[in-house]
Amino acid sequence: MNKLANQNAPDCSCNWFERSAKDITIPVVFDELMNTYHILHNEGRGRSIFYYCPFCGGKAPKSLSPTYWTEVTHEESRRLQDLTKHIKTQEELFTAFGPPDSDFDPGGSMTTRGTPEMPPETTLAPRRVTYKTLSATVDVHVSIDRYDRLRFSYTGRYIGPKKSEQAAT
Ligand SMILES: [Zn+2]
Repeated sequence: MNKLANQNAPDCSCNWFERSAKDITIPVVFDELMNTYHILHNEGRGRSIFYYCPFCGGKAPKSLSPTYWTEVTHEESRRLQDLTKHIKTQEELFTAFGPPDSDFDPGGSMTTRGTPEMPPETTLAPRRVTYKTLSATVDVHVSIDRYDRLRFSYTGRYIGPKKSEQAAT
């Protein structure tokens, strides 16, 4: 359970998240699976969730409860690892599985803070594609960096609407 400093804060109503996610100069991304906003760091390899709006202090959009997601079983995760282990490039990916079900290219870039030894470095955020057809229960996500390196990950699938008691909290 996330420990929020101020459970009673109002929801953010200034649209800072929406604006920032669209602004390529700000390393903020929207995770359409979990309905959460994140700040990217470590050249896009790391990300941290926002709980509050840095501008108005209101609560960030609520993440969807994991309760409503299918479970990624050990067997299924192993099967998918087998299925994808020989795929090393974007081209091989699209040849093997065809067009993805979703294709999220933030188009943004991130700039590291320079140090006295290293100038600031700018890198492009990875493209992320999702396949829903490779498994009956699991979505397969592929993050493709600009060196054409792939990273696979699996998530459970959203299986139902939020209950009203959940939505109201
Ligand atoms: Zn706000």
